Amino acid sequence: MPELPEVEVVKRSLERNILNLVIKKVKINDTNLRYKVDKIGLSKLIGKKITKVRRRSKFLIFEIGKTYRMLVHLGMTGKFFFIDKNDNKFKTSFYYFLNYKKDQKHDRVIFILNKKQKLIYNDVRKFGFIKIYSSSLITKSQHLMHLGPEPLEKNWNFLYLKKYIIGKKRLIKNILMDQKCVSGLGNIYVNEILFLSEVKPFRKATKLKNFEIEKIIKFSKKILKNSIKLGGSTIKDFSSENGKKGFFQQYFKVYGRENQKCSNADCNLTIKRMVISNRATFFCKKCQK
Ligand SMILES: [Zn+2]
Repeated sequence: MPELPEVEVVKRSLERNILNLVIKKVKINDTNLRYKVDKIGLSKLIGKKITKVRRRSKFLIFEIGKTYRMLVHLGMTGKFFFIDKNDNKFKTSFYYFLNYKKDQKHDRVIFILNKKQKLIYNDVRKFGFIKIYSSSLITKSQHLMHLGPEPLEKNWNFLYLKKYIIGKKRLIKNILMDQKCVSGLGNIYVNEILFLSEVKPFRKATKLKNFEIEKIIKFSKKILKNSIKLGGSTIKDFSSENGKKGFFQQYFKVYGRENQKCSNADCNLTIKRMVISNRATFFCKKCQK
């Protein structure tokens, strides 16, 4: 599932390739995404220029002309492909490979741009969605209205989190997964953040010590920044190669490493797995307090 760094890299790829292009035509192959694709809304984008692509949490917001905004969530398997004027296909992030044969049947919405360039929304499992808003109403979208601070922004800081957890008996892992507390941290990154912060995922939030809150803030920023940098660098040349590079599961210290040796050199325990609120949770009994 694409998380914040993956989506940020999509945003940066799109910024490099589709800004100031005009939508000439929209071809809808399948309307059954998480929410029904709005045919009329999409038809209003024809003839308009894509002026900006932004990211908020795991959402992409396309500014189209002065009047329209297109909100996209990639769900579990959503991805954008870019087709250049020579019909070369490119990926826009690092969480998937190109598969020329199989991809096509999952191309759900195709935006035909100037000079025969195309932007393709592809989604195997169809948990993603595309919604069209007027520019004045996008901030009132139910998806964006209740989001907490962006983890890479300054308002995600020690004082904010300290205040937020006062009196909260919920587990710290659930708090960090809650989009009202901080937006865009998914399961993988929360596992990693808590490992580096040396805090057990099932600690009650209200019991955290100041130095632990500091570490959670510090490592959430650090991990996300590193992942964006790493992910961005793997597709910097916008290679259409089906390379093996790019997945950085190999860099995860705790996620998916059940029964493997703890990544801390001076620890000889193995990583444990448990389920918290239906989500796989990994931790080291010794390194995390
Ligand atoms: Zn350990």
